[in-house]
Amino acid sequence: MCDVQPGPVENHRSRESGVLVYPVFSRRSKGLSVGINLFPDRKVCSFDCPYCEVFPFQRDAAFRLDLLETELRATLRRLKAGEFPVRDISFSGNGEPSLAPQFHEALEATARIRDQEASGAALVLITNGTGLLSDQTFDLLRRFAAGPERLSIWLKLDAGTGDWYARMNRSPVPFNALLDRIRELVRRAPVILQTMLCRINGEAPSAEEAAAWTALATELAGLNAAPGAGIQGVQIYGKARPAPEDPLAEALGPDYLEDRAQALQNALGRAIPVEVFV
Ligand code: SF4
Repeated sequence: MCDVQPGPVENHRSRESGVLVYPVFSRRSKGLSVGINLFPDRKVCSFDCPYCEVFPFQRDAAFRLDLLETELRATLRRLKAGEFPVRDISFSGNGEPSLAPQFHEALEATARIRDQEASGAALVLITNGTGLLSDQTFDLLRRFAAGPERLSIWLKLDAGTGDWYARMNRSPVPFNALLDRIRELVRRAPVILQTMLCRINGEAPSAEEAAAWTALATELAGLNAAPGAGIQGVQIYGKARPAPEDPLAEALGPDYLEDRAQALQNALGRAIPVEVFV
């Protein structure tokens, strides 16, 4: 999952060079974010988004939990002496983090090291949500989001219809099965929705798709959620960086993104912020 911009510390392309920990300045974190990459050797994802920024690669670099812990601690200590506070530690990297065999252990270790070295930093999982179909992963995320780890779940929701989902995410995971699990999570944990808006094969989302997405996000926000759970915000973002399949996915104009955000904000009311990242 990708959320990064080149910055003075390092560039996000370091993910494909096999690193496990990569500090970047992030648009959506609004500052310094420390990325955790669980796939140093190749991209692993249950989606195949045409706008994905992770370029195909293959490296001889296996993930090691002890290495992650050492690198994360060293990075946080180094950044402590710097000019910018670490705003978050974010599981993103070369694919869907929840698919990593050691995801559970990595999340636990990262929360522990965050508490020791950068207690003010948020712990963020950027996910496409397909891990929620596993009961074990669902329970892990729910517990970490509601517990002292304060895991912030940033969940991809690119479409309101199955048709646009098929074009944007090209996943074998059925849209309705995914939505059922997302509804279940939203009832039990705080969630931030993230939506990419772009053209696919020259086509913008249809008016029907736009209306369906607004209705779906509004439905999720209106679910009867446990205290502290529910939709906390919606982030809309545009295609800002190259993707391996350019020009299949093309950027839409900022006005389009703002109009879609405004339509959703009107539907949601002011209590839930809708932000745009062009
Ligand atoms: S969810 Fe989509 S954008 Fe994110 S890593 Fe997978 S293919 Fe790329």
